[in-house]
Amino acid sequence: VTKAFGEFAAISDVSLVIPEGALVALLGPSGSGKTTLLRVIAGLEQAQAGRVRLAGIDVTDAPVQRRGIGFVFQDYALFEHMSVADNIAFGLAVQRESAHRIDARVRELLDLVQLRDVGARAPRELSGGQRQRVAIARALGSDPEALLADEPVSMLDVSIRLGVLNLLRDLKERFNLAILYITHDIASARYFADHTLVMYAGRMVEGGDSETVTQAPAHPYTRLLIGSAPDPDRLTGDLTDVQDQGNGEPPSLIHPPAGCRFHPRCPMAMARCTTDLPVQIEIGDGPGHWAACWLYDEETVRRQRPGSAVAALNGRGAAK
Ligand code: SF4
Repeated sequence: VTKAFGEFAAISDVSLVIPEGALVALLGPSGSGKTTLLRVIAGLEQAQAGRVRLAGIDVTDAPVQRRGIGFVFQDYALFEHMSVADNIAFGLAVQRESAHRIDARVRELLDLVQLRDVGARAPRELSGGQRQRVAIARALGSDPEALLADEPVSMLDVSIRLGVLNLLRDLKERFNLAILYITHDIASARYFADHTLVMYAGRMVEGGDSETVTQAPAHPYTRLLIGSAPDPDRLTGDLTDVQDQGNGEPPSLIHPPAGCRFHPRCPMAMARCTTDLPVQIEIGDGPGHWAACWLYDEETVRRQRPGSAVAALNGRGAAK
């Protein structure tokens, strides 16, 4: 999909597949297009080009509430003047369910997120972790086939994050849900997501199984991102402040650079990187691992000098 706001190219030709029953983490700096991508998939924004399909059915033009997609926001987005039960019931009432059916479903959903007996309370009486569980229950109300979560744990204490992430993982296994979640936390991607995708400046730059992408990143931007994380083995705080240190900042998306958008910052940049848009190239060192980087292109590998940095990098890849 492609989405621009005026001259601002928020996401450009981004393609991804979220397999049924898989938890997919989306990493990237602020402004890389992650939230716009989620909003396009959810139908909260219309893409200028591209299609969104759910279980093979084109839902690009379907209204938000008919897409079979649930959405969880970073700040919970609960209605403060309503009880917890009414918050969860809101979407069901819009779908004109009977009062009896709504009551039963709200109880079932509260059970699912391990929050019995809070239905009559106001959201402000709950902790942050409980509020996010209520938001997840609300998102599950319509039996979605996919759940989109925009930094669902970034506002929570580190000690509470594990519980919410475990809940998401349990739910996807129980209901075979496809879940896409945005995170700045490399450890949560590593330990909770089946697959990890990395975005930079409105484009997808790397993807693969989470272990490979976070332990052996191939794209120079992912290497910068992971190299600058303070401790990738711990569930940490928001890494926005640290991940863009080194080699400047992401480019303006009003006039993004030609070729690879990372080339002004990339220590490995070659002449073709300034003119040719990189394609996704299989790396071959982990299931489905790919990078949009010319370093792994056969022509680059053929021309490289033995002992060069490019040769060293490619020694790890399928292109060797
Ligand atoms: Fe660096 Fe070129 Fe790869 Fe872009 S395509 S990340 S500039 S080596």
